[in-house]
Amino acid sequence: MDTVTKPAQAAHYSFFQGVERNFDKASKFTRFESGILEQIKACNSVYSMKYPVRIGDKIEVIEAYRVQHSHHKLPCKGGIRYSMDVNQDEVMALASLMTYKCAIVNVPFGGAKGGIKINPKKYTPFELEKITRRYASELVKKNFIGPGIDVPAPDYGTGAREMSWIVDTYASLKPGEVDALACVTGKPVTQGGVRGRTEATGLGVYYGVREVCNVAEDMKKIGLSVGIEGKKIIVQGLGNVGFHAAKFFYDNGGIIVGLAEYEGGIYNEKGLNLYDVVDHRKSTGSLLNFPGATNFKNSSETLEQACDILIPAALENVINGSNAARIQAKIIGEGANGPLTPDADEILGKKGVIIVPDMYLNAGGVTVSYFEWLKNLSHVRFGRMDKRFSENQNTSILNTVEGLTGKRVTDTERSLIMHGPDEVDLVYSGLEDTMISSYHEIREALLRVGNGVDMRTAAFTVAIDKVGVAYEELGIFP
Ligand code: GLU
Repeated sequence: MDTVTKPAQAAHYSFFQGVERNFDKASKFTRFESGILEQIKACNSVYSMKYPVRIGDKIEVIEAYRVQHSHHKLPCKGGIRYSMDVNQDEVMALASLMTYKCAIVNVPFGGAKGGIKINPKKYTPFELEKITRRYASELVKKNFIGPGIDVPAPDYGTGAREMSWIVDTYASLKPGEVDALACVTGKPVTQGGVRGRTEATGLGVYYGVREVCNVAEDMKKIGLSVGIEGKKIIVQGLGNVGFHAAKFFYDNGGIIVGLAEYEGGIYNEKGLNLYDVVDHRKSTGSLLNFPGATNFKNSSETLEQACDILIPAALENVINGSNAARIQAKIIGEGANGPLTPDADEILGKKGVIIVPDMYLNAGGVTVSYFEWLKNLSHVRFGRMDKRFSENQNTSILNTVEGLTGKRVTDTERSLIMHGPDEVDLVYSGLEDTMISSYHEIREALLRVGNGVDMRTAAFTVAIDKVGVAYEELGIFP
């Protein structure tokens, strides 16, 4: 679960208006008539609900939403968040980002998002279960959930446990529906989930930023060397996305110099041992006072410290007109959805900072959700059919080569070469390939559109092109 709370909204427009502004900026570089553009931008269905749940000896009226932004491809797809900041505008913005995100990574879904306006920390697991199950049955009643209709997933404040309550509620209301498991993704592996989904968004952030850092020409422009190794990184948010992103950077030679959470942040220019920090936070309840690190009681000051790469991986609007000028990073990777306001984009863009946009960079979650959905529809674990076959093939190739050359590989080399793909291997490689190829699609669009255009705008043009073509091909009803 992600746990950083966001600072006061500093923009003069809402989150959804901010997304629309970015869309408009990009749509000028596309060929679609204004009607198609309006249709792409609009939220198709907005379901706002209130329902009662007994909490202790009181009845609480729960406010919740599900927004389906686009039906150009079905099912719709997107997470469900539990947060006191949930409101219709936020869910609309997040649903629309899902449409563009899916288009960018070639995941054949329309965008959606759900939200329940609660602070999940205030409820017992039993109460959360009641709130979640009732939400799921409200979605069933209105036909807002189903393997071919709309498929929720985890988001801020939710995880595999909530998804498992949702699938159980759905299946019990739809007896005999053979594909019921595909009504939601991000489930525990024992309940039809796929291996690798938990860390998918963070791993995607790592693969994406690594690819950005692998383009020598672009690194030269900002005065950085190629590759992740030795890069100084600050991560905001140690929830599911932030923790796993930090972990993959750390495990692959990145230097984590700063970490920020809602209680404050810590910084050490020589690097922090991520696992020790996590243990420290577990035992003391706070990041603060980690040996050798400087404390920042005001968490957002951590983001302003010296580093090469900054990963905001918590909530929206954390970098805005009031703090953007003080950010020192040369690359900002948006692990969260909407962490930079359009004002921040402008200020940082002028400074030449590379902003790797959310709708690309955090698409690892929905990409692996797509794999989970495919697994559920095919009713078979990835690798089940071919793992042994590949191992047998590899063994006979190796034996032949050894026979022909008269040389033998070591036991470690042998087991590495023979290894046939497990589910998690296939999920990781599918995700890696998606993140690499999608990055180059965006980069090509960036070069095509020309000077002065930022990566977010380029990513939007890629998304608009794909969704626009789908609408054209669908035809518009008279
Ligand atoms: N909540 C995640 C996101 O914002 C994942 C959505 C999904 O897997 O459907 O992308």
